[in-house]
Amino acid sequence: MPTRSQQSTLSVHRSLFCHLDGTILESDCQTGAVTSADGESDLIASRTAAAVRAAGPAGDPFGLYIHVPFCATRCGYCDFNTYTAGELGGSSSPQAWARALDGELAAAAAIVGDTPVSTVFVGGGTPSLLGGAGLADVLGTVRRHLRLADDAEVTTESNPESVSPEFFDVLRTAGFTRVSLGMQSAAPHVLRVLDRTHTPGRAVDAAREARAAGFEHVNLDLIYGTPGESDDDLRASVDAVLSAGVDHVSAYALIVEEGTALARRIRRGQVPPVDDDVLAARYELVDTALRAAGFDWYEVSNWARGSGASAAMGVSAGASATTGTWSSARCRHNELYWEGADWWGAGPGAHSHLRGTRFWNVKHPARYAAAVAEGRLPVAGHEVLTDSERHVEDVMLRVRMRSGLPAASLSPDERDRADAEVLAGNVVAVPGSDGRRYVLTDAGRLVADGVVRRVLG
Ligand code: SF4
Repeated sequence: MPTRSQQSTLSVHRSLFCHLDGTILESDCQTGAVTSADGESDLIASRTAAAVRAAGPAGDPFGLYIHVPFCATRCGYCDFNTYTAGELGGSSSPQAWARALDGELAAAAAIVGDTPVSTVFVGGGTPSLLGGAGLADVLGTVRRHLRLADDAEVTTESNPESVSPEFFDVLRTAGFTRVSLGMQSAAPHVLRVLDRTHTPGRAVDAAREARAAGFEHVNLDLIYGTPGESDDDLRASVDAVLSAGVDHVSAYALIVEEGTALARRIRRGQVPPVDDDVLAARYELVDTALRAAGFDWYEVSNWARGSGASAAMGVSAGASATTGTWSSARCRHNELYWEGADWWGAGPGAHSHLRGTRFWNVKHPARYAAAVAEGRLPVAGHEVLTDSERHVEDVMLRVRMRSGLPAASLSPDERDRADAEVLAGNVVAVPGSDGRRYVLTDAGRLVADGVVRRVLG
């Protein structure tokens, strides 16, 4: 049974993911950063714009993240930069957002030039609230300003309750190649605790509709460890995922963020707190079930079907390391984040990274649109990462990937400490075309953050 301390690997993931998907709170990444309060300082914004221009054009591969900051209702556990119509109070609208997006992408094109966009990820928020035609327009806007690579992966997140067979048909015709659906759980009482509004079977039906429309690549998101969830509830959720015929699953431990409705309910004793040991056991339950069904993990919280990795890797007892071939089912856009590549994040609150310069947009949709209307990049701040900061990030992210942490990227002392992790059974050293790589074992995946801390010293 994993211990409480082992669980920390699982709990760290959501903040890491949020950091990378362009929606992190500004206060979470301020070390060494130049920032303004939601873009109020024109001076800082113009300095940031100068830094961004100096950093571009981006290299290859290059990703584009588009943040849609609208949701029908606010889920109790969510602290993303998203707004309901009531919260906006008429200060913004999808139409105003689309006009501003057009302006920001025009500005982005002036900086990144002809660099081909290898992945597009439309996230939120709830992108599917825009409807199929609205999302097709978004992709049209992207194409007007930027050059999509011939084999570009184009993903949109969608909520099960706001999609239909016609919606997926329109997306497919427009050129989307991948759909990611928020399922979270198949248990009605778990969905209630999360304040999710869809009915339990709806996500599976939506995934089937996407497949029927011709989407080869469909992801379902699961959340495990919600108060009140049992092992059987989670098993039923994984079974439902497997019945949907998807080729990708993301499963995240529930993180209770301060300031959310769920955090308040737990504080008042209305809902029991999340148990860290239970989270670790649930991770193992998910991993075991997915692997038995032919999925392979390629990042600690992400599994893709049919990579053939299990056969290629020569699995040893307790180890699941490979540098073998990877499935096209994996999400290339997320891999781009994890590998430290360049991406532009467009939309309110979105974060970008170009050649070691990170910058982020103002968060409120009305201020975002106002900045673009004034002909400015809608940036709120930026930071230039030092070599040391980039190295720490690189180790943190690559340890979590099944392709592993290259020994060549480590100092001699760090390599010695990584070798100690081999002896401890947390990683295995596997040969790769570029030398040795350290890859987490099954046990090591539960303690990945500890491995990072110890390797970095
Ligand atoms: S639908 Fe997603 S982004 Fe919107 S409030 Fe719920 S969890 Fe947050």
